Amino acid sequence: MNIHEYQAKGILRSFGVPVPDGHVIYNSASAREWSKRLGEGPWVVKAQIHAGGRGKGGGVKLARTPNEVRDLAREMLGMTLVTHQTGPEGKLVKRVLVEEGCNIANELYVSLLVDRATSKVTVMASTEGGMDIEEVAAKTPEKIFMEAVDPLVGLTPFQCRKIAFSLGLDGKLINKAVKLLEGLYTTFIACDCSLLEINPLVVTAENNLLALDAKFGFDDNALFRHPKIADLRDYDEEDHNEIEASQYDLSYISLTGNIGCLVNGAGLAMATMDIIKHYGGDPANFLDVGGGATIERVTEAFKIILSDANVKGILVNIFGGIMKCDVIATGVVEAAKQVGIKVPLVVRLEGTNVALGKQMLAESGLNIVTADGMADAAQKIVAAVKGAN
Ligand code: GDP
Ligand code: MN
Repeated sequence: MNIHEYQAKGILRSFGVPVPDGHVIYNSASAREWSKRLGEGPWVVKAQIHAGGRGKGGGVKLARTPNEVRDLAREMLGMTLVTHQTGPEGKLVKRVLVEEGCNIANELYVSLLVDRATSKVTVMASTEGGMDIEEVAAKTPEKIFMEAVDPLVGLTPFQCRKIAFSLGLDGKLINKAVKLLEGLYTTFIACDCSLLEINPLVVTAENNLLALDAKFGFDDNALFRHPKIADLRDYDEEDHNEIEASQYDLSYISLTGNIGCLVNGAGLAMATMDIIKHYGGDPANFLDVGGGATIERVTEAFKIILSDANVKGILVNIFGGIMKCDVIATGVVEAAKQVGIKVPLVVRLEGTNVALGKQMLAESGLNIVTADGMADAAQKIVAAVKGAN
């Protein structure tokens, strides 16, 4: 789960990590009032969407007067902000953060993440703040510094000083950096984060350190023990179908292709996407209905796939182990009855109750292409979708 920048800064503040003072507004009428409460100015007005690159896209602007704050807030609220992370359709801005401005002397980068290779929380730091870290990694990887954290010992002051030196900090800034990094690590562990990125971390003209932007990723599997964080979820920012799917305990990720996939098991779902790609097609989603899915869940899964306007064909690929093929068949038929299937449907069934499942599909009157094996199924659905275009 992701959260907005202003929410992220609220969490950081509560853990003693220095962030600028600010306030979120939903309505430009309160913008002037809030800017005055935040001090003398200048101020920064920042569009709150779950995507980075807002600066370049016009979503981060400097205001010199309270009137300017109001005008910028009015401009941003309701605008569709397009950044390299939103895709060409952009995102509607519904919240704006008004913040006290700061005098930036230097922009740095620091993030904490779970490194799958070492199975450790790792601090990533770079002097190239304010830029896309992916770009830095591609063009000047030597400018990225990594420090892995021993889970039993935690992030030590020694490691923090090492990171501070790698960021080119000296004098009083070293101890400030140590405190800030310790604060970030405490936050990361306490909140069960999967990512905590500060870009930029700035050195101010007054020689202070400040987290000017903040991005959190949370481990969804640990959210049950953080009800306050779970409450920060902004459904407006999420894919409608993914929300729907999560309510039925389906693992669904929407993608940009046109072949809808209904599969059981994450491994089989990945393999199905791979083989579709292999035969020149493009999956519209990842969907794992899970092992013990009920007829209701399979029906919902099918309806979610069908509600995606990009879907030009559907591949059902089931290996019935715990999941029974007749349950899948019932779900497919039920969904077809409720919403109608107007696109080609290829079904590959194998495993428990396969004969019964196939018989039910054959007797359903639905226009189904049956397939034997993954390669056959993938080739058939790719051909059917190409033929339909
Ligand atoms: P992002 O583009 O979505 O990552 O948004 P950021 O919050 O990182 O802001 C983008 C850039 O705006 C930063 O890298 C800064 O250069 C600039 N910026 C943000 N806040 C301030 C501020 O208070 N004062 C000044 N002068 N610049 C700021
Ligand atoms: Mn940023």
